[in-house]
Amino acid sequence: MNDVKGWHALAAAVKPETRLFIDGKFVDAVDGQRFATLNPANGKVIAEVARGNEKDIDLAVKAARRAYKSGVWSRMSPRGRMDVMYKIARLMEAHADEFALLDCLDMGKSISELTGGDVPFSILTFQYFAETIDKIEGAVTSTDPSALHMIVREPLGVVACVTPWNYPLMMAAWKAAPALAAGNSVILKPAEQSPLSALLLAKIFAEAGVPDGVFNVVNGFGEDAGKALALHMDVDKIGFTGSTEVGKLMMVYSGQSNMKKVTTECGGKSPQIVMPDADLDAAVSYAVNGIFTNQGEVCSAGSRLLVHDSIYDEFVSRFAGEAGRFQPGDPLDPATTMGPLVTREQQARVLSYIEAGKKEGGEVVIGGGTPAGLEAGNYVQPTLFKGVTEKMTIAREEIFGPVGAAIRFKSYDEAISIANNSIYGLASSVWTKDITTAHKAARDLEAGMVWINCYDHGDMTQPWGGYKQSGQGRDKCFETVLAHMQTKSVWINLG
Ligand code: NAD
Repeated sequence: MNDVKGWHALAAAVKPETRLFIDGKFVDAVDGQRFATLNPANGKVIAEVARGNEKDIDLAVKAARRAYKSGVWSRMSPRGRMDVMYKIARLMEAHADEFALLDCLDMGKSISELTGGDVPFSILTFQYFAETIDKIEGAVTSTDPSALHMIVREPLGVVACVTPWNYPLMMAAWKAAPALAAGNSVILKPAEQSPLSALLLAKIFAEAGVPDGVFNVVNGFGEDAGKALALHMDVDKIGFTGSTEVGKLMMVYSGQSNMKKVTTECGGKSPQIVMPDADLDAAVSYAVNGIFTNQGEVCSAGSRLLVHDSIYDEFVSRFAGEAGRFQPGDPLDPATTMGPLVTREQQARVLSYIEAGKKEGGEVVIGGGTPAGLEAGNYVQPTLFKGVTEKMTIAREEIFGPVGAAIRFKSYDEAISIANNSIYGLASSVWTKDITTAHKAARDLEAGMVWINCYDHGDMTQPWGGYKQSGQGRDKCFETVLAHMQTKSVWINLG
């Protein structure tokens, strides 16, 4: 669909599922509690959603364990599991508009980004991990002739996926698909700001033939449902995506309970280094996308623009010109390039960072406030600061909004030193025509992802994750399926 009226008509008609999904059935929360999910574009209630707590989590874990032990999924033939996951992907395609609509209403990103990005990439995630299932192999090692030693891979058991609101469907897919491909049972706890698309996913799972209990969705708040899941004694792994602060809590909860495995995909403050020999047209264009896509609510946002002194002024002025491509507006309008931020709190947080930037001596080049006429929504103008130094708050902390910080450097070594001066290490990029500089930077940058002469490129084979406090473990890629399995050594005496 490609017209704003059509999307609004669909939004008016949609009746999203709001209950929890446990053991193959949609159910109310045990205590009957509900919470409102709001539309960030106008502050109106979209739906009242069942709010799970530790009782619902316990039911979901029990169902997941039962299903796991029964072998209905964990011991299904690889081809059988692949068929079901391919069917999930096909059904998602058939419901693509509905998925796009639910995430748009829930968290405010533009409908075009959803139909062109999140939704097809989520479908691809299920296809990719379906394809891995019959490629998972063990090993027979070289032993003395008197023994046969096999290393076999087995699923972990019950995997909890705790996800953020910035890519609701896609993060659910990145977490759940590899866990399921490996044969685990899953409990998904979506972010409380974006609970709806996960429930449509649950409906599709049931239709695709995923056995009862293998996939469960428990919506609820982090501090009750999320914490109960992470502390549960019968959960074998937490796959977490979210803030570094909560990622650290996940590791604590694991230590306080059953030492469940933990992987964390957390925050970032990613540098984009522009060397003097960069292709400036391309660098500016990618830099603008790198910070303003998805309202800047992107873990890998290229929020630190490190620009060589000799081209700094030209870069900043070209960036300001090109930033006009991102105009805040109605996210249901396919022409809109920037939606509102997810909540009023997130808007206030981003605005407070902008104030800190001004106070600490940064100079606002564009934006710096809220756009006129859109007061009902949580909008922030696309903003660029110049004159930023690495000590300023806006150069150090993850803002998670449309705020770029342009920092000047004079030498390659200084650029690398500034780039690596961060608690984070998720993504990075370098713009140069010199192959030596490009390769040196790829080695020198302390980040899980380095882009040379591009930003945010990749496909499903790319390990997605960070160094340092950006987390541990990787999403996407084949390695992720294996991270949802454990090895067993089988030693057979032939003597
Ligand atoms: P968040 O950490 O506040 O919440 C993430 C999830 O954790 C939510 O489901 C929430 O309910 C749950 N949670 C919160 N407190 C909890 C607690 N005490 N116990 C258990 N669960 C709890 O993060 P957010 O605001 O939803 O998302 C934004 C963050 O996510 C940013 O920092 C961003 O960089 C990060 N992120 C990282 C990646 C990546 O791949 N590295 C991808 C997307 C988002």
